[in-house]
Order: sequence, then C-alpha cells, then structure tokens
Amino acid sequence: MDTIIKKKVDLKEKYRLMTRDLGWNLSYVKEDDVYDHAKYEGIKIHDWDKWEDPFRLTVDAYWKYQSEKERKLYAIIDAFVQNNGHLTVTDARYINALKLWLNGITPMEYSAHKSFSRTARQFKGIGASIACQMQSIDELRHAQTQIHSMSNYNRFYNGMDDWHHKSDHMWYYQVPKSFFQDAESAGPFEFITAISFSFEYLLTNLLFVPFVSGAAYNGDMAAMTFGFSAQSDEARHMTLGLEVIKFMLEQDPDNLPIVQGWIDKWAWRGIRLLTLVAMMQDYMLPKRVMSWREGWDIYFEDNGMALFNDLARYGIKVPECIEQARKEKNHISHQAWLTFNSVNFLTNFHTWIPKKEELDWLSAKYPETFDQYYRPRFEYLQKLEDQGEPFLNKALPLTCQVCLIPAFYTEVENPTQLVHEECVYMGEKFQFCSVPCRKIFEREPEKYVQALVPDHQIYQGNCFPEGTNPTAEGFDPIQAVADFYDLETGKENGGFKGSEDEANFARWRDQTTKN
Ligand code: FE
Ligand code: ZN
Repeated sequence: MDTIIKKKVDLKEKYRLMTRDLGWNLSYVKEDDVYDHAKYEGIKIHDWDKWEDPFRLTVDAYWKYQSEKERKLYAIIDAFVQNNGHLTVTDARYINALKLWLNGITPMEYSAHKSFSRTARQFKGIGASIACQMQSIDELRHAQTQIHSMSNYNRFYNGMDDWHHKSDHMWYYQVPKSFFQDAESAGPFEFITAISFSFEYLLTNLLFVPFVSGAAYNGDMAAMTFGFSAQSDEARHMTLGLEVIKFMLEQDPDNLPIVQGWIDKWAWRGIRLLTLVAMMQDYMLPKRVMSWREGWDIYFEDNGMALFNDLARYGIKVPECIEQARKEKNHISHQAWLTFNSVNFLTNFHTWIPKKEELDWLSAKYPETFDQYYRPRFEYLQKLEDQGEPFLNKALPLTCQVCLIPAFYTEVENPTQLVHEECVYMGEKFQFCSVPCRKIFEREPEKYVQALVPDHQIYQGNCFPEGTNPTAEGFDPIQAVADFYDLETGKENGGFKGSEDEANFARWRDQTTKN
C-alpha cells in the first residue's frame, strides 16, 4: 500500500499546482485549431507565461469563499421574506428601480457568464483562463442571486413576472442587450476589454455603488445584500480587466492602436448605457444617495482618471468621448426621465413627475441646468396631469443605430437642440444619438447595419403578435405592440399615481400597524 505523505505546500506553490499545472502542451492537434478565435483580432501574444495573476485564488479557496457568501446571502433573503421585507422600503415607487434592474441588468449577468466561459476556452494562458472561468461562475451566481432576491417582490407587485420575455422584446431593454451582444460577438480580446476593462474597471462603481447604497437607503435589505455579495467579486473582475489591458500592451507594440480603439468604443458604449442608471439615481429612488453628477465626479473624474494616468506610460490616451460625457453629465438623467414619462404606456415600470421637494433637490444638485431647462418642463407636465390631460408622446422617435437609445440627447453646446447625427453607408442612411456613436458605426459599419432598431422593427410590422392584421379597421398599433411585449395595460405600465402597486403597498403597510 502506498503511503501518502502529507506535505504542507505554501500558497504560491499550491496556486501553481492548481492553475498552471492544469494546462498541457498540445501534441497531435494544431494550436490554431484549438484556439481558433485567438488571432483574428490582430492581438499578438508572444508569451502567455508572462501573465501575472492578479488574484492568487485557488479553485478550492474560490468555492469556499463563494459558498460562505451564498450562505449569508440566502439567510438574509430568507429573513427578508419571512418579515414581509417588501413593506419596509421607503415607498412603492422604489420597486420600479428593481423592475428596471431585473429586466435590464440580470439577463446581462447571464450573458457575461456565457461569454466568460468562451473567453476562458480561447485564452491559451492558463492563469488568464482560470480567472475567466471563475468570473464565468461569478456571473451565473449574480444572475441567480438577483432573480432570487427580487422574486419576493414579484409575488406582490406588477411588471416582474415575465422579465425574460420583456428583456427580449421591449424597446429599452434592447439597449443593455445590444451592448452585451456587441461584446459577445467580438473576439475574446475585445470582449474582455469591453466587459472587464471598460465596464467593470472604468464604470462599474457608477453602476453598483449608487444601486447598492440606493437599496440600503431605501430599506431594501435583499437587494443590498446581493449587491454587496456581487461587489466583492467585482474587485476581482476589475483587477482582471486591468491586468488583461496591461498584458496586451506589454506583449507587442502593435497591440496599442487596437486596444486604444476598443477603449474608445467601449468607454462610450458604457457611458451611454449608464444613462439608465443616471435616471434611476436622480429620479427613481425615493430617498437619494447622491446625484448622477456627484457619482460621476467621484467615480469617474477621481477614480477613472487616475486609471488613465496609470495607463499613460503604455501610450493609452483618454478617449475623446469623455469630454462629451462631461458636458452631458448635467443633462442626461433629466432627458431620460422626461422621455420615459411621456411613453409610460409602453414601459413595464411606473413613472411619476417629481414632487415639489424632489424638484428642489434636483435644482440644488444641478444648479447650472435644472432650473433653466428641466424644472419648467416638469412643472408644465404636472399642470397637464392635474388637468387630467397627462402628456403622452405617441410618435416613434429617431433611434441610434449603435446604442439603440432614442435620440433624446441634445447638442452639447445647445441644450435646446436635439442631436442629429447621420451618415450614409451603401446608399442607406443611418442615424445616431451622438458623434461618438456615429464614429463607432463608421469603424465597423458591416456590424452595426445588422442592429435590430426597435422603432424600425415596429414600422416594419415585426412587433405585433402573430396573426395581427394592421389593415383591419380600428387597428390600435400601440396596443398591438404592448401585446407583443406581453405588457398588461393598466397594471404594469402608466403613471405610479393610481396604480395597483401604489394602492396595494399603502393597504398592506397600513395593515402592519393595525389589528
Ligand atoms: Fe456580474
Ligand atoms: Zn447612440
């Protein structure tokens, strides 16, 4: 019988055994056949062994940490459910932020899970591959924990029950979806630059910090806990992103222009996507943590710019689009909320006009723009609503071919003028929300001509339930689109005031204080 000698191995050695040693050299198959996505983007890697692992995390330690986090998270979710935690949130308007998250972000976590598996498979370096595999599992966990913690709300409130269908069909959810599909359909190096670097490293704090502290401020222990649980993985993801960028730049000078092009593109795509977060932060949280603009100043100007300073020695420059984002930071949340307010017949969350004290808060947070451009519009909309004639915009907007956001943004130098950017490709005209989006299109037109632009799809008759006859008398195109979205008119959509959510929340909360 063999004697097993138990020898203590130090952490570094253990790590090597459990990661690097999992790889092997190919003998009877060609490398290019196995890693068939590794070269076509033009990135040159000469020596994967130069890869420095940012996190020396062994597989067994990974499972141990993660399972510990899961145990804590599910204990809190359980307690939240048992104690009718949904009634402890500030007010029921808050729940609409969760609807936006569940449909908009959660499916993207799942996409990230799939794509990190593929990236792990395509990276020849075993250290990078293991890091991607761990992230792949993290992302699956994020999707699951979000669904579980929000499922409690689904038992009581409208708009969450078929998030999967809505995520695939509704106009505004195509914005995050197209962001991810753009990344997924790129090669592994662009994918990881897009997600791990631009999104996770550069922008994730702008998404997570306001959302998680927003949840805490508004009494949502369930969302706060999954947020913290995910955020602790995020530290590892961010480091992976930075490490990949540095590795590509160190491996070959030819990689610099390619990487710079990706950073320029994905910084802008990320910033555009965060418009939805800006709106949530300034308008959808009954108790606000900080304004979008304050978040931008802290997490982008301070942290993000420090990163670019760090990368300057590799020749990386700050993307041009940042200048535009700076000019827009005082506008985008207001423009987005005004837009959603005017089309709330086609949203699965409720909208509302801010109350007087909320308008005062916005005036104080946006002294340069709010009183001049936005407050009068909200006050006018309130007047119309009080007269029983709320303003609704039933025309389809011009939508950006790249980010798929309706072009509600204004010219940076003239906030009363809507943006109009277009270009012609192969005899066809394409329209954009901004100069950076147009430039992204012009770099890879053959990719973006394929985008399914929600409004165009409606005009082409592709967004009605099967068997619909648009020429029938009395045909109501808006209702047909709502049916296609599986949107229950009168329950899920429309103003918060007078909604079933509002009435139920008030009634249930009232019961908790009486016999
Ligand atoms: Fe995630
Ligand atoms: Zn755009």
